[in-house]
Amino acid sequence: MATPKPQTLAAFEAAKGFMPVGEGLALYAAATDAAGLGLPLLEVGTYCGRSTILLADAAREAGVPALTVDHHRGSEEQQPGWEYHDPTVVDPEVGLMDTLPAFRRTLHRAGLEEHVIALVGRSPQVAAAWGGPLGFVFIDGGHTDEHATGDYEGWVPHLAVGGTLVIHDVFPDPADGGQAPYRIYLRALASGAFEEVSVTDSLRVLRRTGDGI
Ligand code: SAH
Ligand code: MG
Repeated sequence: MATPKPQTLAAFEAAKGFMPVGEGLALYAAATDAAGLGLPLLEVGTYCGRSTILLADAAREAGVPALTVDHHRGSEEQQPGWEYHDPTVVDPEVGLMDTLPAFRRTLHRAGLEEHVIALVGRSPQVAAAWGGPLGFVFIDGGHTDEHATGDYEGWVPHLAVGGTLVIHDVFPDPADGGQAPYRIYLRALASGAFEEVSVTDSLRVLRRTGDGI
């Protein structure tokens, strides 16, 4: 299993965000395998760039770009008053969350800026404007059914056959977390167009084996 360079791992561990180390290592290994297709890697849900660091390192090794999509205004559970709110990522001038500056600092510190293309916007709108095939799609955006389904329906059609779909925060037991990512994971398996490659805690790695979503 491919592992990130020590300085990449150190930058990842120092970065603000929601990706535990064990799942991050599985994400890195999956991205490295997929990058061999020679197509761009894409992430939905940049936040402050914690998982992006890992995709960027895998992309750099293969000479492909890593793309990362976020409107940078935060998910529902990250808004003021909610469980995952961080007041240091609020833009005082507009009074809304803005994780773009923290993301840019994270990538700069990791020395990975030139390997990442940041797409700032709503995932379904960016997906609708996106034209090319992707070798890897990592869904870690909004956790409502609307957002998870939008990510799935927007990006899976761009994923090449042989490419990899990774979904984070998949919790089969509702006691462990919200069900929207789990539902798109079940949908991918039920489509007949994916086979499961690995399971690491809440991270699911699937390979696209056929058409259809
Ligand atoms: N991958 C990150 C965590 C992502 S948190 C890490 O490793 O730490 C989820 C992110 O998805 C938030 O930054 C939020 O702004 C973004 N998001 C939620 N819904 C979105 C949508 N519809 N379009 C774009 N970004 C979205
Ligand atoms: Mg997540």
